Amino acid sequence: MMAMCSKKAYLKRRTFDNQYDVDTNIFQVKFDCLKENVVKIHQGDPILCQQCETVLNIYSKIEDDVQNQQFGKHLWICEFCNHKNYIQIEKEEIPKSEDTVYLIQSSQEQQMQIEDADNSIVFCIDTSGSMSSTVEIKGKVNFKHGISAEEYEMLKQFIEPGDEHQIWPQFNTKHVTHVSRKQCVMAAIEQQIGELKKKNPNKIVGLVTFNNEVVVYGDGSEVPITIAGDRLFKQDEIEALLDGTAKQLMKSPVKAQADSLLKKFEQLQEKGQTALGPALISALQLAKIGKPGSMIIICTDGLANFGIGIFGK
Ligand SMILES: [Zn+2]
Repeated sequence: MMAMCSKKAYLKRRTFDNQYDVDTNIFQVKFDCLKENVVKIHQGDPILCQQCETVLNIYSKIEDDVQNQQFGKHLWICEFCNHKNYIQIEKEEIPKSEDTVYLIQSSQEQQMQIEDADNSIVFCIDTSGSMSSTVEIKGKVNFKHGISAEEYEMLKQFIEPGDEHQIWPQFNTKHVTHVSRKQCVMAAIEQQIGELKKKNPNKIVGLVTFNNEVVVYGDGSEVPITIAGDRLFKQDEIEALLDGTAKQLMKSPVKAQADSLLKKFEQLQEKGQTALGPALISALQLAKIGKPGSMIIICTDGLANFGIGIFGK
């Protein structure tokens, strides 16, 4: 799926006069629009600028190209890089709204990619404080991953009397269950790893977690690498650090590592900020070890507010 639903502009400060410009390199994509737009998937594939890969959109100007008219081609001059694109497009293929959803890979194709044994999967998990917030769901649902005694101690100080059920599963009744975002992610990942172990035992699965520091576990067979402090702001340092160790961190298949990986997941505690940018760089370093088609799966609920790629700065 590919969607653009940004409703918010980000600003960057100009160095020469300290005024602000719109930063077109940072945008926020809200995924809830996918839910609303699910019935309106655009026909055909997105048309990309041959030079900069901008997607043809509602604001693109399409002209008849006199020279090439006999081939039914049109001229689209890219509004970002001015490249002259000669394109073949039907009227109904031209986007008519600002939000356009394309299906670029069907779930079946994706499944085939997952089943290809030689590539790897890196789970990039948000363990920032907000992942402990809960939502009420109907009925009694048993989640394996409750809250640890340590987490309870940490959260206790923030709880108003009467709100205990929000973090303490014992307060759930048979009518409602309070589940945290972390619990949902844990349940989903546990299922994924279980399935991978059965269907693709030789696939290599890696783990990267992030809050106010990034912990690179890899396949779980080695001592994890923690990236913290100033390093979170230095992309080249993170890359250099993992360049030498990624191979070592991504060597054992899921059939051997599933249990130890799951144990690592269970021990994750949610606290602190969201260093999403550095975590992604780390995950990319791990995924590079796998064959083309390797995947990074990001589970996050918040804006990047720490380290490289920080929002709003
Ligand atoms: Zn372009």
